[in-house]
Amino acid sequence: MPNPTHRPDRTRQGELPFTGPATFFKAPYLPLDESWEADVGILGIPYDFGVGFRPGARFAPNAVREASGRYPIGPEGYFDPTTEDFRLAGVRVVDAGDVDPAQLEYAESFRRITEAARTLRRRVRLPVFVGGDHSVTYPLLKAYDDVPELHVLQLDAHLDFSDHRNSTRYSNSSPFRRAAEDLPNLAHVTVVGLRGLRTNPEAYRAARARGHRLILARQVHEDLPWVLRTLPQGRPLYVSVDVDVLDPSVAPGTGSPEVEGLRYGEVAKLLEAAVRDNRLVGLDLVEVAPNLDPTGLTALTAARLLAEVLCYWWG
Ligand code: MN
Ligand code: MN
Repeated sequence: MPNPTHRPDRTRQGELPFTGPATFFKAPYLPLDESWEADVGILGIPYDFGVGFRPGARFAPNAVREASGRYPIGPEGYFDPTTEDFRLAGVRVVDAGDVDPAQLEYAESFRRITEAARTLRRRVRLPVFVGGDHSVTYPLLKAYDDVPELHVLQLDAHLDFSDHRNSTRYSNSSPFRRAAEDLPNLAHVTVVGLRGLRTNPEAYRAARARGHRLILARQVHEDLPWVLRTLPQGRPLYVSVDVDVLDPSVAPGTGSPEVEGLRYGEVAKLLEAAVRDNRLVGLDLVEVAPNLDPTGLTALTAARLLAEVLCYWWG
């Protein structure tokens, strides 16, 4: 087996999906405090202290690492039978390890997340973050405060724009509210996949008043081409994927599942268009809860989706 320089022997794992130690897509593990460069760096954020319902997303980074052993990115990339060509050939991917949360000290945890994200941005062209619950997107977006006119695409069953919930302002119901308040460079948010009976009317009106584009799951089901045309174009774009945007039939392992979700193919098409038509500056995937995922399908789906986004980005 060829051994390109970015895949040193000391970090090489076996060929079978389940041989370890597990890293994202069997990429080499290189800690953030070492100096290295790569095309893609994937950072785990095992923080789920912002969950209001069923916890478990703290276990997601390692579950996605394990599942992604099914999709190792070798030097030749993936063979795509639709184009009879290789995707991701030559891409250098690194597993940058995990942020160490300060558990209940949310401010310190968020500070560490922002700092790690800033460091990762200096090392790679595309930083990828695996949460964690959705509260982590607020400190992640803080690491992009130097990007003018930043646009965000949030794929989610829920708005996550509540001012507060259960006396906290930093839960997984509020990351985009906090980001909108604190980050003057955050120009616009597009949310796709909204549904359910729990929408907070104050949050909904506040997001609308700020000009956010709110697209329901039903609109995706009824007219995906129209939704694709409404996505941002030609922008610096940060994409935040809450795995609960997917229908629970393909992603049951999450804290707050909602029926009538998006199909995998719909989410893939949204991501393909968003990545193709914008300059992707970062991506997170949050809310996988492995303890609620007895078949492992959610982690496998999440790993596959991440691999697919990398393919769209690499071209
Ligand atoms: Mn969310
Ligand atoms: Mn959600």
